[in-house]
Amino acid sequence: MTDVSRLASSAYSQALEVIASVEPRIAEATRAELADQRASLKLIASENYASPAVLMTMGTWFSDKYAEGTVGHRFYAGCQNVDTVESLAAEHARELFGAEYAYVQPHSGIDANLVAFWSILAHRVEGPWLQRAEKKNVSELTEEDWESLRRELGNQRLLGMSLDAGGHLTHGFRPNISGKMFHQQQYGTDPETGLLDYDAVAAKAREFKPLVLVAGYSAYPRRVDFAKMREIADEVGATLMVDMAHFAGLVAGKVFTGNEDPVPHAHVVTTTTHKSLRGPRGGMVLATEEYAPSVDRGCPMVLGGPLSHVMAAKAVAFAEARQDGFRTYAQQVADNAQSLAQGFLSRGADLVTGGTDNHLVLLDVSKFGLTGRQAESALLDAGVVTNRNSVPNDPNGAWYTSGIRLGTPALTTRGFGHDEFDTVADLIVTVLQNTEPGTTKAGGPSKASYSLGDGVADKVRAASAEMLDKHPLYPGLDLA
Ligand SMILES: *Cc1c(COP(=O)(O)O)cnc(C)c1O
Repeated sequence: MTDVSRLASSAYSQALEVIASVEPRIAEATRAELADQRASLKLIASENYASPAVLMTMGTWFSDKYAEGTVGHRFYAGCQNVDTVESLAAEHARELFGAEYAYVQPHSGIDANLVAFWSILAHRVEGPWLQRAEKKNVSELTEEDWESLRRELGNQRLLGMSLDAGGHLTHGFRPNISGKMFHQQQYGTDPETGLLDYDAVAAKAREFKPLVLVAGYSAYPRRVDFAKMREIADEVGATLMVDMAHFAGLVAGKVFTGNEDPVPHAHVVTTTTHKSLRGPRGGMVLATEEYAPSVDRGCPMVLGGPLSHVMAAKAVAFAEARQDGFRTYAQQVADNAQSLAQGFLSRGADLVTGGTDNHLVLLDVSKFGLTGRQAESALLDAGVVTNRNSVPNDPNGAWYTSGIRLGTPALTTRGFGHDEFDTVADLIVTVLQNTEPGTTKAGGPSKASYSLGDGVADKVRAASAEMLDKHPLYPGLDLA
Protein backbone atom coordinates (compact mmCIF):
# COMPACT_ATOMS: atom_id res chain seq x y z
CA MET A 1 0.00 0.00 0.00
CA THR A 2 1.39 3.43 -0.84
CA ASP A 3 1.75 6.13 1.77
CA VAL A 4 -0.94 8.17 0.06
CA SER A 5 -3.58 5.44 0.15
CA ARG A 6 -2.69 4.69 3.78
CA LEU A 7 -3.17 8.37 4.62
CA ALA A 8 -6.41 8.50 2.60
CA SER A 9 -7.72 5.43 4.43
CA SER A 10 -7.24 6.92 7.83
CA ALA A 11 -8.40 10.38 6.73
CA TYR A 12 -11.66 9.06 5.28
CA SER A 13 -12.31 6.75 8.23
CA GLN A 14 -11.91 9.63 10.59
CA ALA A 15 -13.93 12.00 8.43
CA LEU A 16 -16.80 9.50 8.38
CA GLU A 17 -16.67 9.30 12.17
CA VAL A 18 -16.92 13.07 12.36
CA ILE A 19 -19.91 13.04 9.98
CA ALA A 20 -21.54 10.16 11.88
CA SER A 21 -21.38 12.16 15.10
CA VAL A 22 -23.96 14.51 13.57
CA GLU A 23 -25.95 12.45 11.05
CA PRO A 24 -24.96 8.77 10.98
CA ARG A 25 -27.25 8.00 8.06
CA ILE A 26 -25.21 10.29 5.81
CA ALA A 27 -21.99 8.59 6.87
CA GLU A 28 -23.63 5.27 6.13
CA ALA A 29 -24.87 6.38 2.69
CA THR A 30 -21.38 7.65 1.90
CA ARG A 31 -19.85 4.26 2.76
CA ALA A 32 -22.58 2.53 0.76
CA GLU A 33 -21.87 4.72 -2.27
CA LEU A 34 -18.22 3.68 -2.27
CA ALA A 35 -19.22 0.03 -1.95
CA ASP A 36 -21.69 0.35 -4.84
CA GLN A 37 -19.22 2.16 -7.09
CA ARG A 38 -16.63 -0.49 -6.31
CA ALA A 39 -18.98 -3.36 -7.11
CA SER A 40 -20.41 -2.20 -10.44
CA LEU A 41 -19.18 -1.85 -13.99
CA LYS A 42 -19.48 1.89 -14.45
CA LEU A 43 -19.88 2.57 -18.15
CA ILE A 44 -21.66 5.91 -18.00
CA ALA A 45 -19.69 7.93 -20.53
CA SER A 46 -19.89 11.17 -18.52
CA GLU A 47 -18.62 9.69 -15.25
CA ASN A 48 -15.20 8.97 -13.83
CA TYR A 49 -13.37 8.49 -10.52
CA ALA A 50 -11.48 11.54 -9.26
CA SER A 51 -8.37 10.96 -7.17
CA PRO A 52 -8.47 11.11 -3.35
CA ALA A 53 -6.40 14.31 -3.60
CA VAL A 54 -9.08 15.94 -5.78
CA LEU A 55 -11.91 14.68 -3.58
CA MET A 56 -10.30 15.74 -0.34
CA THR A 57 -9.55 19.22 -1.63
CA MET A 58 -13.29 19.79 -1.89
CA GLY A 59 -13.91 19.10 1.80
CA THR A 60 -12.36 22.21 3.31
CA TRP A 61 -13.12 25.63 4.70
CA PHE A 62 -12.77 27.25 1.29
CA SER A 63 -16.42 26.23 1.08
CA ASP A 64 -17.16 28.85 3.74
CA LYS A 65 -15.71 31.82 1.91
CA TYR A 66 -17.51 34.31 -0.32
CA ALA A 67 -15.37 35.62 -3.17
CA GLU A 68 -17.62 37.26 -5.77
CA GLY A 69 -15.56 39.05 -8.39
CA THR A 70 -12.25 38.10 -9.95
CA VAL A 71 -8.71 37.63 -8.71
CA GLY A 72 -7.54 40.87 -7.10
CA HIS A 73 -10.95 42.48 -7.65
CA ARG A 74 -13.37 41.00 -5.11
CA PHE A 75 -16.57 42.30 -3.62
CA TYR A 76 -15.63 40.73 -0.25
CA ALA A 77 -12.70 41.23 2.08
CA GLY A 78 -10.17 38.56 2.98
CA CYS A 79 -9.98 36.74 -0.36
CA GLN A 80 -6.18 36.46 -0.57
CA ASN A 81 -6.18 32.66 -0.30
CA VAL A 82 -9.05 32.28 -2.77
CA ASP A 83 -7.01 34.48 -5.12
CA THR A 84 -4.12 32.01 -4.80
CA VAL A 85 -6.44 29.10 -5.56
CA GLU A 86 -8.23 30.70 -8.49
CA SER A 87 -5.00 32.00 -10.07
CA LEU A 88 -3.39 28.58 -9.84
CA ALA A 89 -6.40 26.78 -11.28
CA ALA A 90 -6.54 29.24 -14.19
CA GLU A 91 -2.79 29.04 -14.78
CA HIS A 92 -2.83 25.23 -14.84
CA ALA A 93 -5.83 25.30 -17.21
CA ARG A 94 -4.12 27.72 -19.62
CA GLU A 95 -0.97 25.61 -19.66
CA LEU A 96 -2.84 22.33 -19.96
CA PHE A 97 -4.97 23.43 -22.91
CA GLY A 98 -2.73 26.08 -24.45
CA ALA A 99 -5.52 28.60 -23.94
CA GLU A 100 -5.11 32.37 -23.89
CA TYR A 101 -7.56 32.75 -21.03
CA ALA A 102 -9.30 30.45 -18.52
CA TYR A 103 -12.31 31.21 -16.31
CA VAL A 104 -12.58 28.55 -13.61
CA GLN A 105 -15.59 29.80 -11.63
CA PRO A 106 -18.56 28.05 -13.35
CA HIS A 107 -20.23 25.57 -11.02
CA SER A 108 -21.13 23.09 -13.74
CA GLY A 109 -21.13 22.53 -17.49
CA ILE A 110 -24.48 24.22 -17.88
CA ASP A 111 -23.24 27.25 -15.96
CA ALA A 112 -20.17 27.39 -18.17
CA ASN A 113 -22.42 27.44 -21.24
CA LEU A 114 -24.58 30.20 -19.79
CA VAL A 115 -21.48 32.25 -19.07
CA ALA A 116 -20.30 31.62 -22.64
CA PHE A 117 -23.65 32.57 -24.22
CA TRP A 118 -23.91 35.81 -22.28
CA SER A 119 -20.26 36.62 -22.88
CA ILE A 120 -20.74 36.20 -26.61
CA LEU A 121 -23.88 38.36 -26.47
CA ALA A 122 -22.04 40.99 -24.43
CA HIS A 123 -19.09 41.01 -26.81
CA ARG A 124 -20.95 40.78 -30.10
CA VAL A 125 -24.20 42.62 -29.39
CA GLU A 126 -24.05 44.74 -26.25
CA GLY A 127 -20.54 46.09 -26.93
CA PRO A 128 -21.29 47.35 -30.45
CA TRP A 129 -24.70 48.62 -29.30
CA LEU A 130 -23.09 50.71 -26.54
CA GLN A 131 -20.57 52.07 -29.01
CA ARG A 132 -23.28 53.09 -31.44
CA ALA A 133 -25.20 54.74 -28.63
CA GLU A 134 -21.96 56.41 -27.46
CA LYS A 135 -22.35 55.06 -23.94
CA LYS A 136 -19.38 53.87 -21.89
CA ASN A 137 -21.27 51.13 -20.06
CA VAL A 138 -24.74 49.98 -19.06
CA SER A 139 -24.86 52.23 -16.00
CA GLU A 140 -25.43 55.16 -18.40
CA LEU A 141 -28.52 53.64 -20.01
CA THR A 142 -31.99 55.13 -19.71
CA GLU A 143 -35.06 52.91 -19.49
CA GLU A 144 -35.63 53.48 -23.19
CA ASP A 145 -32.06 52.46 -24.01
CA TRP A 146 -32.60 49.30 -22.00
CA GLU A 147 -35.71 48.42 -23.96
CA SER A 148 -33.83 48.77 -27.20
CA LEU A 149 -30.76 46.83 -26.00
CA ARG A 150 -32.94 44.04 -24.61
CA ARG A 151 -34.72 43.70 -27.94
CA GLU A 152 -31.42 43.31 -29.72
CA LEU A 153 -29.97 40.88 -27.17
CA GLY A 154 -33.11 38.78 -27.28
CA ASN A 155 -33.17 38.52 -31.03
CA GLN A 156 -30.07 36.49 -31.85
CA ARG A 157 -29.59 33.15 -33.57
CA LEU A 158 -27.84 29.97 -32.45
CA LEU A 159 -27.05 26.86 -34.49
CA GLY A 160 -26.14 23.70 -32.57
CA MET A 161 -26.17 19.93 -32.88
CA SER A 162 -29.54 18.34 -32.25
CA LEU A 163 -30.04 16.27 -29.14
CA ASP A 164 -30.88 13.10 -30.99
CA ALA A 165 -27.76 13.37 -33.13
CA GLY A 166 -25.67 13.56 -29.94
CA GLY A 167 -25.77 17.27 -29.04
CA HIS A 168 -26.52 18.56 -25.55
CA LEU A 169 -29.66 20.17 -24.10
CA THR A 170 -27.81 23.48 -23.87
CA HIS A 171 -27.08 23.59 -27.60
CA GLY A 172 -30.47 25.01 -28.50
CA PHE A 173 -32.86 22.25 -27.38
CA ARG A 174 -36.28 23.89 -27.18
CA PRO A 175 -37.14 23.08 -23.54
CA ASN A 176 -33.71 24.36 -22.41
CA ILE A 177 -33.11 28.09 -21.87
CA SER A 178 -30.67 28.02 -24.82
CA GLY A 179 -33.59 27.13 -27.09
CA LYS A 180 -35.64 30.01 -25.68
CA MET A 181 -33.16 32.87 -25.34
CA PHE A 182 -31.99 32.30 -28.93
CA HIS A 183 -33.79 31.72 -32.19
CA GLN A 184 -32.40 28.28 -32.70
CA GLN A 185 -31.84 25.82 -35.46
CA GLN A 186 -30.16 22.46 -35.20
CA TYR A 187 -27.90 20.44 -37.42
CA GLY A 188 -27.98 16.65 -37.34
CA THR A 189 -25.93 13.84 -38.80
CA ASP A 190 -26.08 12.09 -42.16
CA PRO A 191 -29.04 9.68 -42.07
CA GLU A 192 -27.03 7.00 -43.90
CA THR A 193 -23.71 7.09 -42.07
CA GLY A 194 -24.64 8.76 -38.79
CA LEU A 195 -21.62 11.05 -39.32
CA LEU A 196 -21.46 14.83 -39.17
CA ASP A 197 -21.89 16.27 -42.65
CA TYR A 198 -19.88 19.49 -42.71
CA ASP A 199 -21.33 20.58 -46.05
CA ALA A 200 -24.83 20.28 -44.61
CA VAL A 201 -23.78 22.27 -41.51
CA ALA A 202 -22.27 24.94 -43.80
CA ALA A 203 -25.41 25.10 -45.95
CA LYS A 204 -27.59 25.52 -42.88
CA ALA A 205 -25.25 28.18 -41.47
CA ARG A 206 -25.30 30.15 -44.73
CA GLU A 207 -29.05 30.15 -44.75
CA PHE A 208 -29.62 30.79 -41.03
CA LYS A 209 -26.65 33.13 -40.34
CA PRO A 210 -26.29 32.36 -36.63
CA LEU A 211 -24.49 34.64 -34.19
CA VAL A 212 -23.30 31.51 -32.37
CA LEU A 213 -22.27 28.22 -33.94
CA VAL A 214 -22.03 25.52 -31.26
CA ALA A 215 -19.96 22.39 -31.79
CA GLY A 216 -19.47 19.57 -29.32
CA TYR A 217 -21.56 16.67 -28.12
CA SER A 218 -22.58 14.29 -25.36
CA ALA A 219 -23.38 11.20 -27.40
CA TYR A 220 -21.62 11.39 -30.77
CA PRO A 221 -19.06 8.58 -31.02
CA ARG A 222 -16.73 10.33 -33.44
CA ARG A 223 -14.13 13.10 -33.58
CA VAL A 224 -15.00 16.53 -34.90
CA ASP A 225 -12.92 18.67 -37.26
CA PHE A 226 -12.95 22.00 -35.46
CA ALA A 227 -10.91 23.75 -38.16
CA LYS A 228 -13.79 23.04 -40.55
CA MET A 229 -16.32 24.29 -38.01
CA ARG A 230 -14.29 27.49 -37.63
CA GLU A 231 -14.24 27.97 -41.39
CA ILE A 232 -18.02 27.70 -41.42
CA ALA A 233 -18.32 30.14 -38.53
CA ASP A 234 -16.00 32.64 -40.22
CA GLU A 235 -17.83 32.44 -43.50
CA VAL A 236 -21.13 33.47 -41.89
CA GLY A 237 -19.70 35.78 -39.23
CA ALA A 238 -20.58 33.50 -36.31
CA THR A 239 -18.72 33.02 -33.05
CA LEU A 240 -17.55 29.41 -32.76
CA MET A 241 -18.26 28.00 -29.33
CA VAL A 242 -17.08 24.44 -28.66
CA ASP A 243 -18.51 22.55 -25.71
CA MET A 244 -15.89 19.89 -24.96
CA ALA A 245 -17.56 18.76 -21.72
CA HIS A 246 -17.35 15.10 -22.69
CA PHE A 247 -13.96 14.88 -24.32
CA ALA A 248 -11.87 17.49 -22.45
CA GLY A 249 -9.72 14.65 -21.08
CA LEU A 250 -8.83 13.55 -24.61
CA VAL A 251 -7.86 17.13 -25.45
CA ALA A 252 -5.82 17.52 -22.25
CA GLY A 253 -4.19 14.13 -22.85
CA LYS A 254 -3.25 15.10 -26.45
CA VAL A 255 -5.28 12.34 -28.07
CA PHE A 256 -7.16 15.06 -29.94
CA THR A 257 -4.61 17.35 -31.60
CA GLY A 258 -4.51 19.52 -34.72
CA ASN A 259 -7.96 20.00 -36.19
CA GLU A 260 -9.48 17.83 -33.45
CA ASP A 261 -8.26 20.13 -30.67
CA PRO A 262 -10.94 22.82 -30.28
CA VAL A 263 -8.80 25.31 -28.35
CA PRO A 264 -6.80 26.79 -31.27
CA HIS A 265 -9.93 26.98 -33.46
CA ALA A 266 -12.80 28.18 -31.26
CA HIS A 267 -13.40 31.68 -29.94
CA VAL A 268 -14.84 30.22 -26.75
CA VAL A 269 -14.51 26.69 -25.35
CA THR A 270 -16.63 25.41 -22.48
CA THR A 271 -16.24 22.23 -20.49
CA THR A 272 -17.10 20.29 -17.40
CA THR A 273 -14.18 19.24 -15.24
CA HIS A 274 -15.58 15.95 -13.92
CA LYS A 275 -16.04 13.79 -17.02
CA SER A 276 -13.05 12.47 -19.02
CA LEU A 277 -10.94 15.25 -17.43
CA ARG A 278 -11.32 13.42 -14.09
CA GLY A 279 -11.52 16.47 -11.84
CA PRO A 280 -14.12 17.73 -9.37
CA ARG A 281 -17.75 18.29 -10.41
CA GLY A 282 -17.61 21.72 -12.07
CA GLY A 283 -17.29 23.79 -15.23
CA MET A 284 -14.85 26.09 -16.99
CA VAL A 285 -14.67 28.50 -19.92
CA LEU A 286 -11.56 28.96 -22.07
CA ALA A 287 -11.40 31.92 -24.43
CA THR A 288 -9.25 33.95 -26.76
CA GLU A 289 -7.93 37.31 -25.55
CA GLU A 290 -10.69 38.93 -27.58
CA TYR A 291 -13.47 37.26 -25.60
CA ALA A 292 -11.65 37.21 -22.24
CA PRO A 293 -12.97 40.53 -20.88
CA SER A 294 -16.61 39.51 -21.38
CA VAL A 295 -16.10 35.95 -20.06
CA ASP A 296 -14.43 37.48 -17.02
CA ARG A 297 -17.76 39.08 -16.17
CA GLY A 298 -19.36 35.66 -15.58
CA CYS A 299 -19.94 37.07 -12.11
CA PRO A 300 -22.10 39.18 -11.83
CA MET A 301 -23.53 38.40 -15.29
CA VAL A 302 -24.61 34.82 -14.55
CA LEU A 303 -22.85 33.57 -11.42
CA GLY A 304 -22.79 34.51 -7.76
CA GLY A 305 -20.05 33.43 -5.37
CA PRO A 306 -17.60 30.94 -6.83
CA LEU A 307 -17.19 27.53 -5.20
CA SER A 308 -13.69 28.19 -3.95
CA HIS A 309 -13.26 24.67 -2.59
CA VAL A 310 -14.07 23.30 -6.06
CA MET A 311 -11.73 25.79 -7.76
CA ALA A 312 -9.01 24.44 -5.44
CA ALA A 313 -9.86 20.90 -6.50
CA LYS A 314 -9.79 21.99 -10.16
CA ALA A 315 -6.23 23.24 -9.61
CA VAL A 316 -5.26 19.85 -8.15
CA ALA A 317 -6.95 17.94 -10.99
CA PHE A 318 -5.34 20.12 -13.68
CA ALA A 319 -1.94 19.58 -12.01
CA GLU A 320 -2.60 15.84 -12.26
CA ALA A 321 -3.62 16.17 -15.91
CA ARG A 322 -0.36 17.99 -16.68
CA GLN A 323 1.63 14.93 -15.58
CA ASP A 324 2.78 12.45 -18.25
CA GLY A 325 0.63 9.70 -16.76
CA PHE A 326 -2.50 11.52 -17.88
CA ARG A 327 -1.51 11.25 -21.55
CA THR A 328 -1.13 7.51 -21.11
CA TYR A 329 -4.54 7.43 -19.45
CA ALA A 330 -6.23 9.45 -22.21
CA GLN A 331 -4.74 7.26 -24.95
CA GLN A 332 -5.90 4.17 -23.05
CA VAL A 333 -9.43 5.63 -22.83
CA ALA A 334 -9.51 5.92 -26.64
CA ASP A 335 -7.87 2.49 -27.18
CA ASN A 336 -10.35 0.89 -24.81
CA ALA A 337 -13.27 2.42 -26.70
CA GLN A 338 -11.89 0.68 -29.81
CA SER A 339 -11.71 -2.62 -27.92
CA LEU A 340 -15.26 -2.19 -26.67
CA ALA A 341 -16.57 -1.33 -30.15
CA GLN A 342 -14.75 -4.26 -31.74
CA GLY A 343 -16.08 -6.50 -28.99
CA PHE A 344 -19.64 -5.53 -29.94
CA LEU A 345 -19.13 -5.68 -33.71
CA SER A 346 -17.47 -9.10 -33.55
CA ARG A 347 -20.54 -10.36 -31.68
CA GLY A 348 -22.91 -9.00 -34.29
CA ALA A 349 -24.22 -5.93 -32.42
CA ASP A 350 -25.08 -2.63 -34.18
CA LEU A 351 -23.23 0.57 -33.33
CA VAL A 352 -24.31 4.04 -34.42
CA THR A 353 -21.78 5.20 -37.09
CA GLY A 354 -20.41 1.65 -37.14
CA GLY A 355 -17.85 2.26 -34.40
CA THR A 356 -16.06 4.99 -32.47
CA ASP A 357 -12.94 7.11 -32.50
CA ASN A 358 -13.40 8.82 -29.17
CA HIS A 359 -14.27 7.59 -25.66
CA LEU A 360 -17.82 6.38 -26.21
CA VAL A 361 -19.91 3.96 -28.21
CA LEU A 362 -23.61 4.15 -28.93
CA LEU A 363 -25.11 0.68 -29.07
CA ASP A 364 -28.35 0.39 -31.01
CA VAL A 365 -30.35 -2.24 -29.10
CA SER A 366 -33.27 -2.57 -31.54
CA LYS A 367 -31.65 -5.66 -33.03
CA PHE A 368 -32.22 -7.35 -29.65
CA GLY A 369 -35.90 -6.42 -29.82
CA LEU A 370 -35.50 -4.03 -26.87
CA THR A 371 -35.87 -0.35 -26.11
CA GLY A 372 -33.01 1.54 -24.49
CA ARG A 373 -35.08 1.67 -21.32
CA GLN A 374 -35.41 -2.12 -21.15
CA ALA A 375 -31.74 -2.65 -21.97
CA GLU A 376 -30.63 -0.10 -19.36
CA SER A 377 -32.75 -1.76 -16.65
CA ALA A 378 -31.73 -5.34 -17.48
CA LEU A 379 -28.06 -4.32 -17.53
CA LEU A 380 -28.43 -2.61 -14.15
CA ASP A 381 -29.90 -5.84 -12.72
CA ALA A 382 -26.65 -7.48 -13.76
CA GLY A 383 -24.51 -4.73 -12.16
CA VAL A 384 -23.69 -2.94 -15.42
CA VAL A 385 -24.37 0.80 -15.05
CA THR A 386 -25.12 2.57 -18.34
CA ASN A 387 -27.62 5.10 -19.60
CA ARG A 388 -30.17 4.83 -22.33
CA ASN A 389 -29.77 7.29 -25.16
CA SER A 390 -31.59 8.24 -28.33
CA VAL A 391 -30.16 7.10 -31.62
CA PRO A 392 -30.54 9.37 -34.69
CA ASN A 393 -34.24 9.59 -35.69
CA ASP A 394 -35.11 7.37 -32.76
CA PRO A 395 -38.52 5.65 -33.26
CA ASN A 396 -38.86 5.28 -29.46
CA GLY A 397 -38.36 8.97 -28.63
CA ALA A 398 -36.16 10.54 -25.97
CA TRP A 399 -37.71 8.73 -22.98
CA TYR A 400 -37.66 5.04 -24.01
CA THR A 401 -35.00 5.40 -26.74
CA SER A 402 -33.35 2.67 -28.81
CA GLY A 403 -29.78 3.07 -27.66
CA ILE A 404 -27.36 2.55 -24.82
CA ARG A 405 -24.45 4.95 -24.43
CA LEU A 406 -21.26 3.44 -23.04
CA GLY A 407 -18.01 5.18 -22.18
CA THR A 408 -14.56 4.03 -21.16
CA PRO A 409 -13.18 6.87 -18.95
CA ALA A 410 -14.22 5.44 -15.55
CA LEU A 411 -13.16 1.81 -15.97
CA THR A 412 -9.95 2.93 -17.64
CA THR A 413 -9.17 4.84 -14.44
CA ARG A 414 -9.55 1.50 -12.62
CA GLY A 415 -6.99 -0.03 -14.97
CA PHE A 416 -9.21 -1.94 -17.40
CA GLY A 417 -7.53 -2.68 -20.73
CA HIS A 418 -8.27 -4.42 -24.02
CA ASP A 419 -9.17 -7.86 -22.64
CA GLU A 420 -11.45 -6.50 -19.95
CA PHE A 421 -13.34 -4.32 -22.42
CA ASP A 422 -13.75 -7.24 -24.78
CA THR A 423 -15.24 -9.17 -21.85
CA VAL A 424 -17.47 -6.18 -21.00
CA ALA A 425 -18.88 -6.28 -24.55
CA ASP A 426 -19.45 -10.02 -24.18
CA LEU A 427 -21.28 -9.61 -20.87
CA ILE A 428 -23.49 -6.83 -22.25
CA VAL A 429 -24.40 -8.86 -25.34
CA THR A 430 -25.16 -11.84 -23.07
CA VAL A 431 -27.55 -9.77 -20.96
CA LEU A 432 -29.31 -8.29 -24.00
CA GLN A 433 -29.65 -11.67 -25.73
CA ASN A 434 -31.26 -13.03 -22.59
CA THR A 435 -33.69 -10.15 -22.06
CA GLU A 436 -37.26 -10.46 -23.33
CA PRO A 437 -39.52 -7.43 -23.70
CA GLY A 438 -42.63 -7.58 -21.50
CA THR A 439 -46.25 -6.93 -22.46
CA THR A 440 -48.56 -4.15 -21.40
CA LYS A 441 -51.82 -4.78 -19.48
CA ALA A 442 -53.63 -4.54 -22.79
CA GLY A 443 -51.42 -7.31 -24.16
CA GLY A 444 -49.31 -5.17 -26.52
CA PRO A 445 -45.53 -4.92 -26.50
CA SER A 446 -44.21 -2.88 -23.55
CA LYS A 447 -41.43 -0.33 -23.96
CA ALA A 448 -40.48 -0.53 -20.29
CA SER A 449 -41.08 -3.95 -18.77
CA TYR A 450 -38.81 -6.89 -19.50
CA SER A 451 -37.64 -10.17 -18.07
CA LEU A 452 -34.05 -11.25 -17.73
CA GLY A 453 -33.33 -14.97 -18.04
CA ASP A 454 -32.77 -17.00 -14.86
CA GLY A 455 -29.26 -16.90 -13.52
CA VAL A 456 -27.96 -14.43 -16.13
CA ALA A 457 -27.56 -11.53 -13.70
CA ASP A 458 -25.62 -13.72 -11.24
CA LYS A 459 -23.39 -15.09 -13.96
CA VAL A 460 -22.59 -11.59 -15.26
CA ARG A 461 -22.02 -10.23 -11.76
CA ALA A 462 -19.58 -13.02 -11.00
CA ALA A 463 -17.63 -12.40 -14.20
CA SER A 464 -17.59 -8.64 -13.48
CA ALA A 465 -16.48 -9.18 -9.89
CA GLU A 466 -13.45 -11.06 -11.09
CA MET A 467 -12.34 -8.10 -13.22
CA LEU A 468 -13.31 -5.50 -10.63
CA ASP A 469 -11.34 -7.33 -7.91
CA LYS A 470 -8.31 -7.39 -10.15
CA HIS A 471 -8.61 -3.62 -10.68
CA PRO A 472 -9.73 -2.20 -7.34
CA LEU A 473 -11.19 1.29 -7.10
CA TYR A 474 -9.03 3.40 -4.75
CA PRO A 475 -6.64 0.53 -4.04
CA GLY A 476 -5.66 0.37 -0.42
CA LEU A 477 -8.48 2.60 0.72
CA ASP A 478 -9.95 0.64 3.63
CA LEU A 479 -12.67 2.26 5.67
CA ALA A 480 -12.42 1.16 9.29
C1 LIG B 1 -22.46 17.02 -19.39
C2 LIG B 1 -22.55 18.10 -20.39
C3 LIG B 1 -22.92 19.40 -20.00
C4 LIG B 1 -23.49 19.73 -18.65
O1 LIG B 1 -22.68 19.55 -17.57
P1 LIG B 1 -23.30 19.67 -16.10
O2 LIG B 1 -22.07 19.79 -15.26
O3 LIG B 1 -24.08 18.44 -15.87
O4 LIG B 1 -24.13 20.89 -16.04
C5 LIG B 1 -22.89 20.39 -20.96
N1 LIG B 1 -22.54 20.13 -22.23
C6 LIG B 1 -22.18 18.89 -22.63
C7 LIG B 1 -21.80 18.66 -24.06
C8 LIG B 1 -22.20 17.83 -21.73
O5 LIG B 1 -21.90 16.60 -22.16
